[in-house]
Amino acid sequence: MTFFRDLSPFRYFSRPEVHGALNVGWLSPFRYCPIGPTTREFRHRLFELCARPQLYHRGYHPCLLGLCKFTPRLFGTTASLNGHAVSLGSGIVIVRGAVDAYVAPNLIYHYVVRHWYRPPKPFIDAVLTSAPVPPIRLNVSRLTSA
Ligand SMILES: [Zn+2]
Repeated sequence: MTFFRDLSPFRYFSRPEVHGALNVGWLSPFRYCPIGPTTREFRHRLFELCARPQLYHRGYHPCLLGLCKFTPRLFGTTASLNGHAVSLGSGIVIVRGAVDAYVAPNLIYHYVVRHWYRPPKPFIDAVLTSAPVPPIRLNVSRLTSA
């Protein structure tokens, strides 16, 4: 996974939906990763968002944090909530907050639940107040960055 510091300007690719948005949850091993508790409500809402990402990568990004790097997962990381299973690692979620929009890999749910990653508060607030956006199928790897 490409590393971008939380709340830095999103420049991974250029599209109108992500113009001016900020990065959240683009984690890599041995880099800055704040940890801490999150609420059950936040994790539940985050799962819903990550289950239906607005954008998709081609292929999967594996989790390389902690012990996950020793557990190769050919088809991505899965997560489940209330009997509903989703595959993580190929989706990108866009969350609109009161002031800013945030762009996160949908692996962020796994990072929060399995690695105790605690995203910045403005992102948590945005997740708690966001309405899901219908998915747009897109092949990001074919885009050129602006
Ligand atoms: Zn992991």
